[in-house]
Amino acid sequence: MDYKAYLKEIAPKIFLTDSPTGYSKNIDNVIISILNELGYTNIKKTNKGNLVLEIEGENNNKTVATSAHADTLGLMVRSINSDGTLKVTNVGGPQAPTLDGEYCKIVTRDGKSYTGTVLSSSPSSHVYPDAKSKPRDFDNLIVRIDENVKSKDDVIKLGIDNGDYVCYDPKTTITESGFLKSRFIDDKGSVCAILTVLKKLKDENRKPKYNTLVYFVNQEEVGHGASTVSNEIDEFVTVDMGCVGLDLAGNEYAVSIAAKDSNGPYDYELTSRLINLAKKHKLNYVVDIFPYYGSDIGAAWHAGIDCKGALIGPGVHASHGMERTHLDAIINTIELLYSYLIEE
Ligand SMILES: [Zn+2]
Repeated sequence: MDYKAYLKEIAPKIFLTDSPTGYSKNIDNVIISILNELGYTNIKKTNKGNLVLEIEGENNNKTVATSAHADTLGLMVRSINSDGTLKVTNVGGPQAPTLDGEYCKIVTRDGKSYTGTVLSSSPSSHVYPDAKSKPRDFDNLIVRIDENVKSKDDVIKLGIDNGDYVCYDPKTTITESGFLKSRFIDDKGSVCAILTVLKKLKDENRKPKYNTLVYFVNQEEVGHGASTVSNEIDEFVTVDMGCVGLDLAGNEYAVSIAAKDSNGPYDYELTSRLINLAKKHKLNYVVDIFPYYGSDIGAAWHAGIDCKGALIGPGVHASHGMERTHLDAIINTIELLYSYLIEE
């Protein structure tokens, strides 16, 4: 089976559904419908808003978990300016300068949606002497709404209020050369990887070796996504982006296996097992240290979940900015997670 074709089929559905942290209803519906199409129905939504799929294993001695986070970076209306533009606050940690010029959608609490553009507050070269030099930070970015609004009152009449989500365009593209260019490959690339692993289990009529909980987490970008995973799990392999740059080994073609991130080392034994599986299956993999990085394993551990924890994922270039990976990195991630679930 050509799993790249399946990735190309599901990626637009996942990437083009806005899901900034805390606004997960739509992406949950997309994931549930893909899971249902694959024949998985044992899905629950937790109070905190994570989706969890339970799959019975061949053997009940152990419960393992895997996860990817379906939430993304985003923006929220902080206040409405007197000229009818919006001031925004960040949700998670987007690279603010990369947002200048991005198309976006403002979603109101009563379900209306308006388009707009994120711009510098000195947006015109012919008017503002600091149009080129003004910092592109959240204090100096605005949203221009594509409606005839000239005042704060005009904006309020549209139904837009403080606290409304502003979702910016992921610009998802898959090139002929096999690159996935998009915002939010962190971590929707991994969501697609896990869905493909679940398809492969069905195609090959395999059960995972142990009882398996698959989490689609919705608050990872703000640090506490997987803090409420089940206390029953013995092992937790989260799938999240691999870092690329500087002296790191990670790249856009390989699956990264993290030995350590900002929260310290991952579980030595579980990480070693994953490295050995990657070697055994001759996967393109690297072992790496992620310098400025936290994951859902840290969230689970800080919450007191007593499990071994490890992290794998496709190498992503320019993370939290205009990201890119190659489908090969996602395929290597799929192969590693699949072998972990059926063999170890
Ligand atoms: Zn991530």
